[in-house]
Amino acid sequence: MLHRFEPGRHGAPEYGPELDLEVDVAVLGAGAGGSAAAANLVARGLRVAVLEEGSHWQPSQFRPQSVWAFRHLYQGRGTRAAHGNGVLVLPGGRGVGGSTLINSAICFRTPPSVLARWRDESGCGRFTDGWMESCFARIWDTLGVSVNPPAVQGDNNRVFKRGADALGLRGDWLARAAPGCVGCGSCQQGCEVGAKRSADRTFLGEAVDSGLCGVYADCRVDGVETTGGRVDTLRGRTMNPTDDTAAGTFRVRARHFVLAGGAVGTPRFLLQNGLYGAPAGEHLRVHPTTGMIGRFATDIKPWTGVTQGYYVDQWERGFLLQVYNAPPDQAWVQLALPPAEALQWMADLRRCGMAGVVVHDEDSVGRVTRGGLEYHLGDADRRVLMEGLRTTADVFFAAGADAVVAGVHGAGAVPKGADLRRAFADDTSPWDLALYAAHPLGTCRMGRRADDSVVDADGKVWGWDNLHIADASVFPTSLGVNPQVTTYAVGLTVGAAVAERAA
Ligand SMILES: Cc1cc2nc3c(=O)[nH]c(=O)nc-3n(C[C@H](O)[C@H](O)[C@H](O)COP(=O)(O)OP(=O)(O)OC[C@H]3O[C@@H](n4cnc5c(N)ncnc54)[C@H](O)[C@@H]3O)c2cc1C
Ligand code: SF4
Repeated sequence: MLHRFEPGRHGAPEYGPELDLEVDVAVLGAGAGGSAAAANLVARGLRVAVLEEGSHWQPSQFRPQSVWAFRHLYQGRGTRAAHGNGVLVLPGGRGVGGSTLINSAICFRTPPSVLARWRDESGCGRFTDGWMESCFARIWDTLGVSVNPPAVQGDNNRVFKRGADALGLRGDWLARAAPGCVGCGSCQQGCEVGAKRSADRTFLGEAVDSGLCGVYADCRVDGVETTGGRVDTLRGRTMNPTDDTAAGTFRVRARHFVLAGGAVGTPRFLLQNGLYGAPAGEHLRVHPTTGMIGRFATDIKPWTGVTQGYYVDQWERGFLLQVYNAPPDQAWVQLALPPAEALQWMADLRRCGMAGVVVHDEDSVGRVTRGGLEYHLGDADRRVLMEGLRTTADVFFAAGADAVVAGVHGAGAVPKGADLRRAFADDTSPWDLALYAAHPLGTCRMGRRADDSVVDADGKVWGWDNLHIADASVFPTSLGVNPQVTTYAVGLTVGAAVAERAA
C-alpha cells in the first residue's frame, strides 16, 4: 500500500485509506497544461506530484466505441453541456492526458496577431516571439508533429480538399501529433494503436522518467487549506475507477501549487473553495461549431482515414472549416431530419463526407459557475457560423455532393442548387443550431489587474503567493485555432515561472 510520495505512475489499487504526500510542487490535472508544467518543473530538479481524477490508460485498453469512450474518458460521461440561448455540447477529457486522450491531434501554432494582442492588451510579457518559438520547437519535437501521408488521409479528407481546390479556397493538410497514424478514424475514442502522442505519453512521460515526478491517477482534488495568502495543502478523495465512489482520502503539502484542471475545472475549483470570485469563471470562449454532412454518389466511408486531416483557412472571415469524422452513432444524433429521412441518410452514410465550422468567437458570452455552464451565442458569431455553413455547403457541392444536412433544425436536407441563404439564414435562432465545442478557454484569464483578470503574467493567481494556473483557462482572448499547442506552451511558460520562484 502506498502512503507517502513515490515517483512513478500510481493508481487506485495501490492506495491505502489515507495518502499523505509532501513535495515541492503539486499540480492539479494531468492534461496538456499540467503535463507541460510538470516537465519544466522537474527539469529544475523539483519534486512534483500530479493529481488527476481520471485513470491511467494504455493504448490497448481503448475501444473505438462512443459509449465506452464517454464512460471512461470524458467529463460527465460525455454529457457536459452549456445552456443559454441554446444548448452547446462541450466535451472534455478525463484521465491522465486530459483532453489530449480524446483530441484529434491537430497542431496549430498560436497566431502571431493573437500573441501580439495578448502582450499589448493583457501584459503577457513572457510570451515573447523568441520564447514562443522555442516552445513551438520543443512541442513539435516532443509530439512528433507532422502531416500524415496521403495514403492514410482517407476519402473524407480528400473529397473536401477536392471541393476547396475547385473553388480556389486556401486550405491545407493539418499538422498532427500522430506520426505513426494508420488512419483508423477513432482519435476521439482514444488511439488504440498508440500513434497519437498525447500528454501522458510525451511531456508527462518525460517528467516521470526524470525520477522526480509522481502521477497520482484516480485522485479528485476537492479542497484546500490556506494560511494568510498562501496555500498549504490540497486534499481530496481517491476513487474506485469502476464507479467513481470514494475509496479513501489524500492530502498533498507543497511549497507551490499549480492548477491545471482545464477551463472548466480550474475556475470551478477556485469558486467552490472561495479562492477567487469574479472574474474567475467569466469570459468563457469555446470556438462554437456546427457540423455538416454531404452526400455523394460514390463511397467515402467517412469512418476511415485520419479523423481530422484537412482544413480550409477563412481566418479573415472569422472561421476555419475542418473535416471531421463522427462515428455512426454520433452521426445519427447530428442528422436534424424527420426519422424516415434520417434513416435513409444513415443507410447512405458510407457515401457521406463531414466537415464543421470552427468560429473565432468574439461576441458570445459564457461562464463557468460553481455548478453550471452558461453560453449565449452572440449575433455576430451566429452570422459567422451561418456564413461558414454556407461555405461548407459550397465546398461539398463543388466536390460533387448532391445534398447536405447541417446541424440546423428545420433546414432539412438541402439539395445542390438550393438557395443557401434561405436554408442557412443569418437570423437562424441558436435554439435551432446543434452547437458543439471542444475548446473551452479563457475563464481565468491573464491580465494586468486583479479586478479584470485572475492571473498575472507569470500565471500566478492575484492575491496568492504560491498558487499558479497552467492551462487553457489563462488565455486572455479567444484563439481562433485549435488550442492544444498554445496550452502546452502555457504549461511550459508557467512551469518555468514557478521553477524560478521555487529555486
Ligand atoms: C473531443 C476533443 C477534440 C479536440 N481536438 C483537438 C485537436 O485536434 N487539436 C487541438 O489543438 N485541440 C483539440 N482539443 C482541445 C485540446 O485537447 C485542449 O484545449 C487541451 O487539452 C486543454 O488542456 P488543459 O490542460 O487546459 O485541460 P485538459 O487537457 O482538459 O486537462 C484537464 C485535466 O484536469 C483534470 N481535473 C479537472 N479537475 C480536477 C480535479 N478537481 N481533481 C483532479 N483532476 C481534475 C481533468 O480530469 C483533466 O484530465 C480537443 C478537445 C476535445 C475535447
Ligand atoms: S486516426 Fe490515427 S491518431 Fe487517430 S486514433 Fe487512428 S491511428 Fe490514432
